[in-house]
Amino acid sequence: MSRVYNFSAGPSCLPEEVLKECAAEMMDYNGSGQSVMEMSHRSKVYQEIIDHAEAQVRKLMKVPENYKVLFLQGGGSTQFAMVAQNLGIHTHKAAYIKTGVWAKKAAAEAKKLGIEVTEIASSEDKNFSYIPRVEKIEGDYDYAYICFNNTIMGTHYEYIPDTGKIPLVADISSCVLSEELDVSKFGLLFAGAQKNLAPAGVTLVIIREDLITETPLPGTTTMNTYKTHADNGSMYNTPPCYTIYVLGKVLDWIEKKGGAAGIHKLNVEKANYLYDYLDKSDFYHATAEKGSRSLMNVPFLTKYSNHAADDEAAAAKEKEINDKFVKESTAAGLVNLKGHRLVGGMRASIYNAMPLDGVKALVAFMEKFAKENA
Ligand SMILES: *Cc1c(COP(=O)(O)O)cnc(C)c1O
Repeated sequence: MSRVYNFSAGPSCLPEEVLKECAAEMMDYNGSGQSVMEMSHRSKVYQEIIDHAEAQVRKLMKVPENYKVLFLQGGGSTQFAMVAQNLGIHTHKAAYIKTGVWAKKAAAEAKKLGIEVTEIASSEDKNFSYIPRVEKIEGDYDYAYICFNNTIMGTHYEYIPDTGKIPLVADISSCVLSEELDVSKFGLLFAGAQKNLAPAGVTLVIIREDLITETPLPGTTTMNTYKTHADNGSMYNTPPCYTIYVLGKVLDWIEKKGGAAGIHKLNVEKANYLYDYLDKSDFYHATAEKGSRSLMNVPFLTKYSNHAADDEAAAAKEKEINDKFVKESTAAGLVNLKGHRLVGGMRASIYNAMPLDGVKALVAFMEKFAKENA
């Protein structure tokens, strides 16, 4: 068996220990004579699995008593609408901070639903390479919305805006459980699982109970109403059973690493190893500004990106170098490093499950590539 180091932005690598456990239990889960894939979600044995997953979310994220933990489907993208449908119900006004693609998509979805969206800050002036500083959010907004870690731009909030009584909603898809987070500062948190928690298929939602309404926006479907899922223990319909099972195991793995604080320490060590190299290199540079840098997603460019926008020959050379980097790194067992088209260059996603050795292997490859292409 030969495994690669996978730097994909999502779905992304999972801890090997977890994959091995899943494999060992594939044919017969815990003496049940069935795979978890085959079980009735209404069975006692499955109820224990989903209860364990929820208990681990509560324990590791220190979720206060007055919050519900839900396992939903439809990805982070469905939350863009559900947030507006279930929270945007009084003044129909919401404040959004625009920090990149995912925040923009969320705002666009709210607008579609008739919410009056106010963009209270943006970092579009510098291609979203930083997080704007918004100390305080005030107004008659139903909610305020932020994307806490911007997967494409490689930026992350180093503070939590003070919204007073306005419920703060945060998309934490690409940073959930990569660090400690004070859940009580938020009204609602959500995360698609495929970056830091599990395979694709489940979305974790943590919602303060007073925000679970019986009267969402008119026309909101049963499935898009948080109350439906809160009242039925995330089992109103068939949940993504297997994914939730893997999620529980990933959280057990995080617990063994010292929980949110322990994994955060490892993540800082990994990210610093890469950023330190980028900052001292004269061949590469990180695109995200210091003070806003993500521990999870690290986009970077080469010196060949420093050219005038209309210099076609230089642009062709830049593309040639980037393509070569991706091709050679893939051959070296370092995969999915191609950058997002909105940033260009390369991007290394180094989620919880990426070991420090993977980052060290990447930096060693980068050094060699820089020498050969100087
Ligand atoms: C990946 C991602 C999404 C979209 O998630 P889906 O599950 O694909 O809908 C939303 N927000 C952020 C921050 C993401 O990284």
